Amino acid sequence: MTQTRRRILIVGGVAGGASCAARARRLCEKCDIVIFDRGPHVSFANCGLPYFVGEVIKKEEKLLVANPALFNDRFNIEVHTETEVLSIDAEQKTILVRDLNTSQERTESYDALVLSPGARAIRPPLPGIDLPGIHVLRNIPDSHRIRAALSKAKSAVIVGGGFIGLEMAENLSRRGLQLSLIEKSPQVMPPLDSEMAVPVADRLRAEGVDLRLGIGVTAFAEADNGGVRVSLDNGDSIDTDIVILAIGVQPETRLAVSAGIELGDRAGIKVDASMRTSVAGIWAVGDAVEVNDVITGELQPIPLAGPANRQGRIAASSIIGGHQDLTFRGVQATAVCGVFGLIVASTGASEKSLKRCGQKDYEKIYLHPGSHVSYFPGATPIHLKLLFSTTDGRILGAQAIGENGIARRIDTLSMAIQMGATVYDLEESELCYAPQFGAAKDPVNFAGMIAANHLRGDLPLAHWEDVEHCEANIVDVRTAGEYAQRHLPGSVNIPLEELRERLTDISPDREVWLICEVGQRAYYATRLLMQNNYQVRVLSGGMKTWDFFSRTGGSLQ
Ligand code: FAD
Repeated sequence: MTQTRRRILIVGGVAGGASCAARARRLCEKCDIVIFDRGPHVSFANCGLPYFVGEVIKKEEKLLVANPALFNDRFNIEVHTETEVLSIDAEQKTILVRDLNTSQERTESYDALVLSPGARAIRPPLPGIDLPGIHVLRNIPDSHRIRAALSKAKSAVIVGGGFIGLEMAENLSRRGLQLSLIEKSPQVMPPLDSEMAVPVADRLRAEGVDLRLGIGVTAFAEADNGGVRVSLDNGDSIDTDIVILAIGVQPETRLAVSAGIELGDRAGIKVDASMRTSVAGIWAVGDAVEVNDVITGELQPIPLAGPANRQGRIAASSIIGGHQDLTFRGVQATAVCGVFGLIVASTGASEKSLKRCGQKDYEKIYLHPGSHVSYFPGATPIHLKLLFSTTDGRILGAQAIGENGIARRIDTLSMAIQMGATVYDLEESELCYAPQFGAAKDPVNFAGMIAANHLRGDLPLAHWEDVEHCEANIVDVRTAGEYAQRHLPGSVNIPLEELRERLTDISPDREVWLICEVGQRAYYATRLLMQNNYQVRVLSGGMKTWDFFSRTGGSLQ
């Protein structure tokens, strides 16, 4: 196939931009490909930055996945770092760029332009926001500034309890700092449902982090000791040596706006499935764009490296042509984060996102299996929540927390969601097993079995949020010893082993809601009682779920 020489310019040379450039070269030897980045690096591992601050990654060069020389020598791709793209003339198909070292400006023409400018950290217009002790972490220079500040710092306030805030908490703690973490919402990890975030908050507190939930920052000021005074909306203030601002990002759309490119409702660049923008000849990828959520259908920016990389590939394929089947399928927001030995991962919809979209035909289950069989040393619990459609059993979302085996389960569920699988498919999934890695019935199988049992009518479910006002008989089928340790107010204890003999203790006139420690014995009791004509429901995940749920204030956010 003969190819006419085309000039592809790419703005931003990290996740989306670099993968677009490399893919474009693989598809087109006869194209001129040029990357511009205003920063000093391209293709660096921004995901590794918190660990560079924490000195887990010791050398900066480890963060550099590729450099301009490699792009040039291996791929014949021209890279201009410290070169900012200032504006786009979409009519003339040119961009105006400025060399940040010389301040010289020049015009570059393109046949295809790809925008991968990422996102910028949100800096709310609070008093004192520009104080030198307040840092964000987006790139390698930011990480050097923070590392330099750490040499004199003993304490830090992290504002924001999302992924980056939590990773920074772990890494600053590793560097010996006394930490406070301020989060305006009542939970950490906003993508999780609130009850699932409880063990994460517990772990932070157990590691000595002064965690303040449901509290906002109102102002920053210089503290008497030369650090920063952080004022809070409950009237408190904290004096600290440095502040890390990690309250989220917003799509970098200034250039797109200059070219008249349409933005979406969530302020990201609108693109089609080939990553084309509304302006001919311009594509956009990564944190700057809005993409559709495959479960809820919502359009939103998703600042994750995986989607940015995939979109970069797709944009290149669209520009070069010949691979029209390569289109972006949408996002599931599959993500994982490590925090003080705890692993937190999620994929697909959360319950709160389903509620936000008005989706009603869903159900949820909780389970707390071991990461591998209990007889093999080292098993730790996995706290898993699965959301599925009551119409057809399709998997809608999952969240898991624990110390081992978390990413593997969420990745399995993520793939299942992408393939449109149902809970019946999870029941039948064949997953690898040896004692140190899992169980013959893996937690993923278990989740499928519980959900499928429910859909088949064998395991009716009650909801924890309805417990307080329910009129059912709540029967706890754990042992008397377990019951004595802690139990749900108003529940009665009939151990599973005594249930057959004590059926007359349970009134058949009212519905029976069953609890045990994690759900399994309650399920056995359900089968027993249903076959004795009782109306029964199970409180999914047992007291273990209640331990989390009761600490959200009783309502799911
Ligand atoms: P970026 O990778 O941010 O690249 C954008 C580039 O464009 C920047 O280098 C910028 O300098 C340049 N640029 C912007 N405007 C211009 C202009 N006008 N002219 C020239 N250059 C310009 N994601 C995960 O999935 N997992 C993680 O564990 C994870 N951890 C993260 C940790 C941190 C600290 C950060 C900051 C991000 C993390 N992410 C993680 C998110 C992930 O890095 C991003 O989603 C991804 O890098 C987005 O790629 P992008 O190409 O859209 O933008």
